[in-house]
Amino acid sequence: SDEEADKAAVAMSVGVGSWCDPESVLGLAHFLEHMLFLGTERYPDEGFFEKFLQKSGGMTNAFTEAESTNYFFDINHSSLLDALDRFSSFFICPLFTVEATDRELKAVDSEHQKNLQSDLWRISQLHKSLSDPNHVFRKFRSGNYKTLHDIPKEKGIDVRQELFRFYQKYYSSSIMCLTVLGREPLDVLEKAVRDNFSSVRNLKTERPKFSGNPFPKQFRQKEILAVPVKDLRSLHIKWVVPPCRKNYRTKEWSFFSHLLGHEGPGSILSFLKEKQWANELGSGIDISTSCFAVFSTEIDLSETGINHIQDIILSVFQYLSLLRKMSEDQWQTHYEELRDISAMNFRFKSKEQSSNYVVSLSSGLSKYDPNDVLTGPYLYQSFDFNFVQTFLSHLNVENFRYNVVAREFSGKTDSIEPYYQTEYRVNDIPKKLLQEWETCGLSSGFVLPVKNQFIATNFEIFQPESKEHELETSHPYQILDEPLIECWYSLDTKFKQPKAHIILDIVTPEAYSSPRNSVLTNLYCQYVQFSLNEFAYDADLAGLGYALSLTTHGLQLTLQGYCQKMHVLFERIIDRLKNLKVENERFQVIKEKMQRQYMNFRKGQPFSHSMYNQAMCSDHVKWHNDQYESSIIELTVDDLRSHMSALFRQAFFRALINGNLRKSDALLFCDKLKTVLNCKPLYPSQHIDHRIVKFEDRHLYRHSMKGPNSDDPNSAVVCSYQIGEQTIRNSCLNQLLDHITSQFIYEQLRTIEQLGYLVWSVGVSRDKVLSFQIIVQSLRDPVYLEQRIEACVDSIGGLITSMDEIDFAQNRKALIDLLLEKDRTLSKVTQKFWNAIASYSYMFDRAEREANELTTISKLDVLAHYREFIHSDGVHRRKLTTHVLSAAVSAAVNGVDGGAVNASPAADGAPDTAGASADGAAPGDDDKVSESARTPTAPDVVEITNAEKASKALPKPLRQPPKDTSTVVEITDFFGFKRSMPLFPNFCRKMSNM
Ligand SMILES: [Zn+2]
Repeated sequence: SDEEADKAAVAMSVGVGSWCDPESVLGLAHFLEHMLFLGTERYPDEGFFEKFLQKSGGMTNAFTEAESTNYFFDINHSSLLDALDRFSSFFICPLFTVEATDRELKAVDSEHQKNLQSDLWRISQLHKSLSDPNHVFRKFRSGNYKTLHDIPKEKGIDVRQELFRFYQKYYSSSIMCLTVLGREPLDVLEKAVRDNFSSVRNLKTERPKFSGNPFPKQFRQKEILAVPVKDLRSLHIKWVVPPCRKNYRTKEWSFFSHLLGHEGPGSILSFLKEKQWANELGSGIDISTSCFAVFSTEIDLSETGINHIQDIILSVFQYLSLLRKMSEDQWQTHYEELRDISAMNFRFKSKEQSSNYVVSLSSGLSKYDPNDVLTGPYLYQSFDFNFVQTFLSHLNVENFRYNVVAREFSGKTDSIEPYYQTEYRVNDIPKKLLQEWETCGLSSGFVLPVKNQFIATNFEIFQPESKEHELETSHPYQILDEPLIECWYSLDTKFKQPKAHIILDIVTPEAYSSPRNSVLTNLYCQYVQFSLNEFAYDADLAGLGYALSLTTHGLQLTLQGYCQKMHVLFERIIDRLKNLKVENERFQVIKEKMQRQYMNFRKGQPFSHSMYNQAMCSDHVKWHNDQYESSIIELTVDDLRSHMSALFRQAFFRALINGNLRKSDALLFCDKLKTVLNCKPLYPSQHIDHRIVKFEDRHLYRHSMKGPNSDDPNSAVVCSYQIGEQTIRNSCLNQLLDHITSQFIYEQLRTIEQLGYLVWSVGVSRDKVLSFQIIVQSLRDPVYLEQRIEACVDSIGGLITSMDEIDFAQNRKALIDLLLEKDRTLSKVTQKFWNAIASYSYMFDRAEREANELTTISKLDVLAHYREFIHSDGVHRRKLTTHVLSAAVSAAVNGVDGGAVNASPAADGAPDTAGASADGAAPGDDDKVSESARTPTAPDVVEITNAEKASKALPKPLRQPPKDTSTVVEITDFFGFKRSMPLFPNFCRKMSNM
């Protein structure tokens, strides 16, 4: 119970997952997870739950792991009790209708299709394939058309019957854990749970038990070489260790994540960087299950590093020898440091998103003692030297294997993984080498980390100095307004945490003035971070982090975390910005890594290219990745040196300091900035504008390109309708339109027409210009997709008109509640303040104003907004559409006729598919120790479909797309196009100090 929670949330963790899939129906647990949402006896309408949530400001999702399946939702706090009744019916009386079964199979297959080009999924499955064939670990998790349709069919298995059988066997209250978070007092919540869930059957089923280790001797001591899709280069050293969940009180594995993963002086990474072999390193429990765990050290290799794999592994074993020499007292010291940091983080933990919180608690219920459910993942309760020694004893040559992932192995492999077609090769490791590693002893280069000086000791919370200051704490006010610097400051009194957040824009004309300069600035940012890494790593461990990045107007530096020692980190960063020393060898390593990043841009999902091209067409100043790629080739370390000397000649600083820092502290930060960087102010004309291309009424702008990843079968399209300047009114209309129509658009394009797994619509604000967008990724041709989008858009008017007033009012209320939701973290508040400052609107209460304005908006207003800007006859319709046509299947697709949709993947061999992040069947989701690793990401929300009833929807002939009489403009050259176009007026210029 949390009486301040705006969002209530509920999660149900069922103690069965894909490890219980029948061998002939792999992916069944995941399929069932999808099916559970598609109608119950009490609520037979397939979309009943989503429709209910839409009106109550909620969302829902689910994910399937090896040993559990989790279903969750969030909702406005006032609707929790009604939602429980609906949610509980999933676990009491699901229908698994025949129609939905057939249709949802395709959604599951689409989900797999979109993972095929993902290295994360590919490598994860490769590890499974290279394990004991008799161990459940090997099973293919997500399922596809073959495993859920073809194979069962061949064997005469009825998949729908299997769904029932699986459900009836495992969906028993005896292995379900439920977490409910709401505003109501605990007694009320408990009663609601009893009322709604007592009819969930208790079959006294026990949690399925698994035993054994999936890596018997013949799968250990191997070298696995694999070819990635992207240009990645990494080494993964893996040890199989006993299951470690039950040791959550002592957490001995975390000592090894900490020490092997350390980045300070004397660490493995420090040594590897010195040798120019590696860029990054991470260590920790990679897979955690009830019967085994895998501890892994992962190293991002440089170009030369790939030729030193054996040396690198040797260094890791040498470091382990150092750990074997540690005394009990030394371990105790490290234990105390880890314990103190964790305790501090738990004490000052920000509130999580309700849905994330209930998900982690519901799965924690089966892992921790009831008393430890809240603290289990965080707190260290005792130190046990024997446990540490036992864990260390497993990190030996006997239990390990490693894999190297690199494009360099292309053509040198001899096997193909069956589900993802990853090319690989397995080699034995020579006995001699194993022996050398086993007996390697110490190396003088390695030393243990010293005491971390960044751990905060003072948690004093500052109070406003006077009554009038108290008023100023609700939003930031300006404490400096000079030609060189503008500083906004706010003392936080909401969160009462000893933390602060700084955002600093360094506006400098040199930074982004050409593609070449942008690349140089980017190289500079990377180099600064590299050079600070050993110093800043301790700060990071102690909960004080920073980031430095290139923006279109210069650089942005952010710092956040415990405020006591923030100035130490800040001063060091500023000093390094001014006095960075660069040398050629390291420059080449950083440059090579950036080159690969620019190249890997091409392997992104088609929809992301489509969105990128939208920005290329509408942002007045934006360089293209291709330009970066060609500019970087000839850059030398001397180019970087001369760029650095010009970078801060003139600048303008815009800062926001928010949190538990006094005004005098904030002014000290500013002083430091001015004196160290010592820049001259900009001339007024040098201040950089962000302006958006203004499209003309009744025009349709179109950009098309071939998908740059020739192996990706997906195409994508983004249709964007430009609305105009972001006024409060416009913004409200656009958001409300989005809120009312998003579920409808999703149902039509994804569920009914089965265009693809990834379908969504959204109201967007970009540099204060609004638009409404619809995005689809699909195996279909983009021209066809656009026709289907237009047909759907055309029917929105009918949807709004037919909506009854009560329904409309509920939707509007849900949006108002969303806008007025309290900010949960200091970060969120800071970002909100910053948006108001960086856009020069200084409207710190935008949400309140919009919520207020919304109350005046009627159904007819929304309809008029739609008719004016989005409908095909709209007088102010300005449409930009960006097509990405898959090179892989463009020849095979012929459905550009706007006729009937072939919704059968079997018939055209081309199942519907799409992109974005996956649902819960995530790669390596064998139950990570870190709870946050499972946090679903935003695009997930589209994962679960609610579908119109198939019987009603499918036979209906599809609506024809309307005739569009707009003038068509084909965009072939972004820069030429933008030169010819008018821009929106400059809403953003601040004139006062010029
Ligand atoms: Zn799924």
